[in-house]
Amino acid sequence: MSDKVNFETLGEIFRQNQTFALMSHMRPDGDAIGSVLGLGLALEAMGKTVHFWNVDGLPDSLAFLPGSEKISLPPAEAPDIDVAIALDTATKVRLGEGNLIAAAKAKLWVNIDHHISNPLYADVNYVDATSPATGQIVYEILQALEMPITAGSRDAIYVAVSTDTGSFQYDSTTARTYRMAADLMERGLAVGDINAKTYDSHPYRRIELLRALLNTLELSTDGKVAHWVMLDQLRIDLALKPEDSEGLIDMIRAIRGVQVAVFFEELPGGKVRVSMRSKDRSVNVCEIATHFGGGGHALAAGIRMAGPIAQAKQQVLSAIAAAVSQKNESF
Ligand code: AMP
Ligand code: MN
Ligand code: MN
Repeated sequence: MSDKVNFETLGEIFRQNQTFALMSHMRPDGDAIGSVLGLGLALEAMGKTVHFWNVDGLPDSLAFLPGSEKISLPPAEAPDIDVAIALDTATKVRLGEGNLIAAAKAKLWVNIDHHISNPLYADVNYVDATSPATGQIVYEILQALEMPITAGSRDAIYVAVSTDTGSFQYDSTTARTYRMAADLMERGLAVGDINAKTYDSHPYRRIELLRALLNTLELSTDGKVAHWVMLDQLRIDLALKPEDSEGLIDMIRAIRGVQVAVFFEELPGGKVRVSMRSKDRSVNVCEIATHFGGGGHALAAGIRMAGPIAQAKQQVLSAIAAAVSQKNESF
């Protein structure tokens, strides 16, 4: 199975079908929502019927995106649809069960993604692990197929790529990424305004969360690993929403000498979400995540694993310590 069909194959699918369901991973980030809106609004502008589904709905933090009100929970009963398209979703399970039920009548599944761990789970796969964001793949598809880039698609694609690249900072960012951003600006993107809405408009409770996380911060492995912990009780006490922690890990990733940053979050029901960032390609956090049933990218990966949190912490931190020590021995 090819990891990348050519754009024309996607063009045929878009032309020959009428009804599409666009979905992305649970606990959606900017790239998950932005890539769904970027492609979906373009399909709508071509006269197609588009469903925009996410099992966790739209995070408040992305409600400024034009068209984002179209994102809904998947319906309990599967409507007639022609094509189901998963975007920014490393495994089919990450779509959540609600999406799989709602998309049961799809005649064709398409998988558009940039996770290196993606096992190519659809009938038609376009997986480009060199792309910094699924939003950039969507942009390239729209360009190649001369599909309409409406103001809504333009803003959604920009936010998708900006959030997945740490504001165009990570080394996954390429000259193509900057050219894309320049083109979006030429198409009328209000860069200061959209960045302010994305980065300078957090609810106060996010900063209260940061204060609580800082109190749990620990360094290990000679200062090369930093981690912090969020217990489920904190979510209750501060009335937190899932998106409130988005991006906070970058604070501890930025500590001098730290090679790997880890965020442990106890989920309601006792499972544990682990978020990892590496600053060094020779410590591949995707490999570590995959070992525990998760996945992602070499420098940013995640896991959902069984608790209790103390045990998850111990297991993951010792796997990271082994990877970090191995790397430092080889020099
Ligand atoms: P996060 O730490 O949640 O921002 O995720 C970092 C990267 O890893 C993102 O690209 C996610 O899509 C991916 N990722 C996070 N959790 C998982 C998981 N349980 N399985 C596969 N990929 C994941
Ligand atoms: Mn994502
Ligand atoms: Mn992404």
